Amino acid sequence: MRPDILNPLFAELDTLDGVGPKLKKPLDKLGLTRVRDVAYHLPDRFVTRRPVANLDEASVGEQIVIPLTPTEHRANSSGRGPYRVLAADALGNTCALTYFGRASYSAKKLLPVGEQRWIAGRLDEYGQMLQIVHPDHVAESSEGLLATLNEPVYPLAAGLTQPKVAGLVDQALARLPDLPEWIEPGQFSRAEWPTWVEALKLAHKGHHPAARDRLAYDELLANSLALMLVRADNRRRKGQALRGDGRLRDRLALPFPLTGAQQRSIGEIEGDLAQDTPMLRLLQGDVGAGKTVVALEAMLVAIEAGAQAALLAPTEILARQHYETLRKLAAPTGIEIALLTGRDKGRAREAILMGLHDGSIDMIVGTHAIFQDAVTYRNLGLVVIDEQHRFGVSQRLMLAQKGRVTPHTLAMTATPIPRTLTLAQYGEMDVSRLDELPPGRQAIDTVVVSVERMGEVVDRLAAAIAGGAQAYWVCPMVRELESEDIAAAEARFAALRERFGDDVVLVHGQLKPELKDAAMERFASGQAKLLVATTVIEVGVDVPNATLMVIEQAERFGLAQLHQLRGRVGRGSAKSVCVLMRGGELSETGKARLALMRETQDGFRLAEEDLRLRGGGELLGTRQSGDTPFRIAELEQIERLLPLAHDDARLLMERDGGLASERGQAARTMLYLFERDWGVQLLRGG
Ligand code: ADP
Ligand code: MG
Repeated sequence: MRPDILNPLFAELDTLDGVGPKLKKPLDKLGLTRVRDVAYHLPDRFVTRRPVANLDEASVGEQIVIPLTPTEHRANSSGRGPYRVLAADALGNTCALTYFGRASYSAKKLLPVGEQRWIAGRLDEYGQMLQIVHPDHVAESSEGLLATLNEPVYPLAAGLTQPKVAGLVDQALARLPDLPEWIEPGQFSRAEWPTWVEALKLAHKGHHPAARDRLAYDELLANSLALMLVRADNRRRKGQALRGDGRLRDRLALPFPLTGAQQRSIGEIEGDLAQDTPMLRLLQGDVGAGKTVVALEAMLVAIEAGAQAALLAPTEILARQHYETLRKLAAPTGIEIALLTGRDKGRAREAILMGLHDGSIDMIVGTHAIFQDAVTYRNLGLVVIDEQHRFGVSQRLMLAQKGRVTPHTLAMTATPIPRTLTLAQYGEMDVSRLDELPPGRQAIDTVVVSVERMGEVVDRLAAAIAGGAQAYWVCPMVRELESEDIAAAEARFAALRERFGDDVVLVHGQLKPELKDAAMERFASGQAKLLVATTVIEVGVDVPNATLMVIEQAERFGLAQLHQLRGRVGRGSAKSVCVLMRGGELSETGKARLALMRETQDGFRLAEEDLRLRGGGELLGTRQSGDTPFRIAELEQIERLLPLAHDDARLLMERDGGLASERGQAARTMLYLFERDWGVQLLRGG
């Protein structure tokens, strides 16, 4: 149960003044649904304004506060275009106050001719004229504007304004309860951090690195502690020791020898399975590294030992592909494999449920459907989760409840995660790495071209398709501009259709699942030659024939993401090409990033460099999968503060693993505050 002291923070936003149905949508868009979220909606930056007496003292581009007297209102004669109010300073210099759209109505009232007003805004030039577009503030006296000399700038969504958000933040801050301190006293005093309440208030007021650090630290500490609680809980759980005798694995006739990395990983997994503490292991390996066979071997160990094994995939089509692959590979073993997805209904589904219940099915492959309440297993010994990054820790925990005894868990991911983040993302797991690609893979030829050369690229595409190849065309997909991005992908699809007709299909995140699956299937089966997609193909199916990929506006993607996308080609032995098309001029780092893509195909190196090279917020696509699990802590803070938070959490766990002491109780509150309460719920009486 959430501590009562947090209730005001978890109240819905409509408990704040001025929040009605109209604001709900933009607030939702920013992820703001409760008072807590608003309190943590920190400014991106601060505007610093300089008070000046007249225009001669100010320079173009500068944020100023200035007294001006309106002399004339000029509406655009056509009724459209900007509304300008000409205003003069004490020396007789003129400046236009320019308003667009509906804002012009307020200008009429706010700026009566002949009456001096104090104006805050950025001084610009429009032709020969000085102007301030949409002044941030207009006041009758200077006092009102003194408070705005240093003003927060909040992330916005359409339908929200700075003053509106600032007003909500003020209300949220007024409701902050005094929470008990959860940071280790030594750390707290060494760092000279403010208390939680002070830190939040300071972070909204101005540039306060210590306050920001404290808030980031809280989030990191909550995460570390929650993961440690999961691990501790796991150690207490009863699992079953699974020792295979090799009789099924001996019958496998794999068409290739395993790589060293695969053998090593299988060995590590076998070691874990033989323990009666449930395994919690992450198998990390690039797209194409060969995780599926490792999963198969692990599942066969479980089955040899008399248990059942399940493989969970994030999408139906991926589940089906795994099912086909595993069925073929495992055919010589004679085990019973079934597929279960949300699509299966009626008799077929009943038969599978029966088989899982009575144990006649050894291996089940499917989507979430395999863990619905109606599904019971005779003896589930191992759960493999593919594309782990699509599932959160809480979902991983849910799976653990499924068996009579806790099943072993093997999570798999192709997301290259820098070392710094592995701890934060998978701190509760042991990690096996497939750091070696199967032999015979051809390097993917990566080229960077400017968008002006689109015509050439399309010609090249046409030639490849005529030669029997298939290709991906990836358009960026970014949350803030989602609708525009989809429009762009649709427009590109329409344009390519003109040239390639029915050979082209489109897949994006907002298509209905059936349509998405149908398009993917047309492409996977080879009926369609060209797949236009947003980044959904990150978790894609295998199409060995696809040897060409074009990524539009490549500069908007993170390196790790580009790398993962690129991994969709180069799966076979044929030469593959990845065209990184840049949308505009590149900054220095932008250039360095794309050059690095050409240079290396080492996913871990790219992930590390990505972390180093990307300035906060420079990349739009960075909030997608493979991103950090944090909302407050920035990358630089994660690197600097996570080790401290991790130690702090470990110390607390050693001293008070049940979180019963005063500080332990404070830490529980923190876990609820950061919604890592799945950690608390594992504690007895939590
Ligand atoms: P991942 O899931 O890691 O992206 P897959 O398991 O789908 O990769 O493997 C990619 C391809 O490589 C498959 O066609 C698989 O049969 C093949 N493969 C796996 N291991 C080896 C190996 N040791 N040698 C050659 N090919 C392999
Ligand atoms: Mg895979």
